Amino acid sequence: MRSLNFSAGPAQLPLPVLEQLRDELLDWRGTGASVAELSHRGKPFMALAEEIEADARRLLAVPDSHAILFLSGGATTQQALIPMNLCAAGETADYLVTGHWSKVAIKQASAVCAVHTVASAEDDGFLRLPEKSQWTHTKGAAYFHVTGNETIHGVELFNLPEATQAPLVVDLSSNIASRPTDFSKIGLAYAGAQKNLGPSGITLTIVSRELLAREGMQRPDIFKFASHAAQGSMLNTPPTLNWYILGLCIRWMLGEGGTAAFEARNLAKSSLLYATIDQSAGFYTNSVAADCRSRMNIPFVLHDAALDAVFLEESERAGMIGLKGHKALGGMRASLYNAIALKDIEALCAFMRDFQMRHG
Ligand code: PMP
Repeated sequence: MRSLNFSAGPAQLPLPVLEQLRDELLDWRGTGASVAELSHRGKPFMALAEEIEADARRLLAVPDSHAILFLSGGATTQQALIPMNLCAAGETADYLVTGHWSKVAIKQASAVCAVHTVASAEDDGFLRLPEKSQWTHTKGAAYFHVTGNETIHGVELFNLPEATQAPLVVDLSSNIASRPTDFSKIGLAYAGAQKNLGPSGITLTIVSRELLAREGMQRPDIFKFASHAAQGSMLNTPPTLNWYILGLCIRWMLGEGGTAAFEARNLAKSSLLYATIDQSAGFYTNSVAADCRSRMNIPFVLHDAALDAVFLEESERAGMIGLKGHKALGGMRASLYNAIALKDIEALCAFMRDFQMRHG
């Protein structure tokens, strides 16, 4: 019996993916070996990597002007590599601060380059986006970094800002593939796979070839995006098993109708959960402004924090896991990534209404 898993990541994987993984674990494509046991330089894996790149390009509609890199180290490592690759010595990078993960991005970059905060919503408790009229940009900034979706605060940027003279860099860790994205307007996007794309241990970096040509700072070759691109993301031994599982997930998403289909589903799922919260007469609350309420991660608090432990215990008994909120906010958080179906949210909302009736 599988749980309904609302974890923020690593998160629930589609059941057909897990079943295929199980079926192929001992003998993948007649090789007599698991993908995890095969050389990344051998023909079978090289062919697989090519297929996965083509599928990822199709799913995400990535234009030929951009390379897709399959890297290890997670999103946080990208946050450190981005300034090394895109900034020349002495240059400044601009950051919009919309929640916890924007701040982590700044923390990583600050060790590498000068950072300018374009605007911050911290004084508003990250409940709304920073007022656009207050944004200040650096003239000649190396790039402009935004966080597409704040996984902890539940704040999503539905309209990416127009690139200023500086190319746009976007952390898509928790909303990549949740709806169509126009990558032609993005200089570089990155996402750890463990939320909406697949397992942990592999990260997608989608970068324009124009930015790949930047000199960047002096750094070891292994930290160069251009070197990874030139070697098909096999500059060193890649996380082959994770890459393969990511490929299964991407194929599953294509089979389900791609990002346009997921946009419709994610809108329906998130609307239902927000309605349940908003119609609870204050029993449950989410205070994020309506225009930036995330469709992927929905934090909410119970009117009485003393009920938190009871809620978690009862939800777990009902087969639902991963609902405990991040420690920074407390309360609960439901993550509604692509592998979560509308019926799963219907089950969660039914549980929440029943819980309210019994404890309200
Ligand atoms: N950015 C965002 C938006 C995230 O949600 C996370 C992980 N929760 C990270 C960055 C860091 O990702 P990783 O753990 O893969 O380094």
